[in-house]
Amino acid sequence: MIYDLVVVGSSFAGLACARAAALGGSRVLVVDKRPAAGSRLHTTGMIVKDAVDSIPWLRDVPGELVRRIEGVRLYAPNLRHVDLHAPGYYFWATDMPRLMQWMVGLVQAAGAEVRFGALFTSVAREREHDPWSVTLGSGETVLCHYVVGADGPHSRVAKALGLSQNRQFLFGVEHEYAQAELEPGYLHCFIDSELAPGYIGWGFAGVGVTQVGLARRVTPGSHQGRVDLAAFLRKTEGRVTPRGTPVSIRAGMIPCGGRLPRVARPGALLVGDAAGLVSPATAGGIHAALRVGEEAGVAVARYIAGKVPDPAAWLPHQYPSYRFKRALRALFEWTQGDWTYNWLLRTRAMRGICERIYFHTQGAPMLRGSAGQG
Ligand SMILES: Cc1cc2nc3c(=O)[nH]c(=O)nc-3n(C[C@H](O)[C@H](O)[C@H](O)COP(=O)(O)OP(=O)(O)OC[C@H]3O[C@@H](n4cnc5c(N)ncnc54)[C@H](O)[C@@H]3O)c2cc1C
Repeated sequence: MIYDLVVVGSSFAGLACARAAALGGSRVLVVDKRPAAGSRLHTTGMIVKDAVDSIPWLRDVPGELVRRIEGVRLYAPNLRHVDLHAPGYYFWATDMPRLMQWMVGLVQAAGAEVRFGALFTSVAREREHDPWSVTLGSGETVLCHYVVGADGPHSRVAKALGLSQNRQFLFGVEHEYAQAELEPGYLHCFIDSELAPGYIGWGFAGVGVTQVGLARRVTPGSHQGRVDLAAFLRKTEGRVTPRGTPVSIRAGMIPCGGRLPRVARPGALLVGDAAGLVSPATAGGIHAALRVGEEAGVAVARYIAGKVPDPAAWLPHQYPSYRFKRALRALFEWTQGDWTYNWLLRTRAMRGICERIYFHTQGAPMLRGSAGQG
């Protein structure tokens, strides 16, 4: 049998794409190297309100898999803080393993086939309009008319198809604790140029666990990728204070260079992290992965049905460019010094920028906190 679409990767981008394409009438196969849905996760899994607003099926997520967080407590390097809120805005902390299982069920119910323990190794075809031959680690070859690479930051699909690959990364590590002391209802974020150069540390009460993490820029060829979570916990003692040993650990690379230049060729598209679709300002990629994944699935199904030209020729022009957020990242990198942020967080202008970054939408933010009072 020839599939209409093979999607490599069964995370946010791949599942959103597969579901939309299957609902559009395509025969879809999703392959993932993970042993099972929700295993070996590498994300914090915080989902922004904008995603919930723009992706209708997210509103069907069972309530016990998510927890609303309505404010951000942003700490300067000297640990003075400012509280950021925007009326009506929230983030979802998620039970990521169970959310992934729920999403896979949704995709299967839409009619797509999902195979775990299936490593993608290569893809090729003789001529432009021939079907693709997708080769899996088992040696099996699968034929299809279209290929979508949703296989994350180090996309093997991109490599096999001669497309662009991510080169700039942050590296993040997160521990989950069964017990911790911290003020719930806030995403606690810590700026520290030594412990988290190029990014931040964070902690929050999630679904049944407390998640505490730290990310930093990776400088190729140096040791700067080391993440010292123990030092971070010592510093944040009294603000985010976990008890006991972690019940699970997640770690991974986050592309932060913005959208890649070549993300498609006839009959093939990259989506999600594989295409560099992560906000360089927040390092959040779930919203873009879901949205662009879904748009790709709709477009491929319409192409297979002969209703639109190959989406490889037009869809990438609609991918987010992150021009403004790339500029914010450059500004953050350029200004990052502890004294700078100890001072900057006391200014109204800086807090305004932070609100725009965290709350995306045009809400009317309210400020409270200690950094603004000094
Ligand atoms: C530590 C950390 C914390 C983060 N926290 C957040 C957050 O809170 N909020 C947010 O919005 N973003 C966050 N991000 C970013 C976010 O996780 C990603 O942007 C998002 O997961 C991208 O989804 P994706 O579907 O494109 O790729 P991924 O989630 O990376 O999924 C890729 C999938 O492809 C599979 N795969 C890879 N190679 C192969 C292969 N050769 N064969 C078969 N399968 C393959 C993988 O097993 C995986 O299932 C975080 C990232 C990290 C590393």
